[in-house]
Amino acid sequence: MRLLILLGIIYLCYRALKSWMLQGRSPRKTVFGNTAGEIDDVMIKDPFCEIYFPKKDGVHLRIDGKDLYFCSKECRDKFVEKYSKK
Ligand SMILES: [Zn+2]
Repeated sequence: MRLLILLGIIYLCYRALKSWMLQGRSPRKTVFGNTAGEIDDVMIKDPFCEIYFPKKDGVHLRIDGKDLYFCSKECRDKFVEKYSKK
């Protein structure tokens, strides 16, 4: 009976260790512009003037379900203007 409990404890330790190792090993996501808030020290491209800048300094715009970031409010406004004229 005691052996069974011991086996149970070993199994639980093994599961915990395995999930811990999997978590530690999973690579950091480096998807550009997709996950807002998760990564903020990433460089993204301004879709209007095509300049690269840190995402955390960007001006956010949500248009047609897409998250866009601009280097300045001017770029965002110009982009919106251009976009709405299409
Ligand atoms: Zn810009």
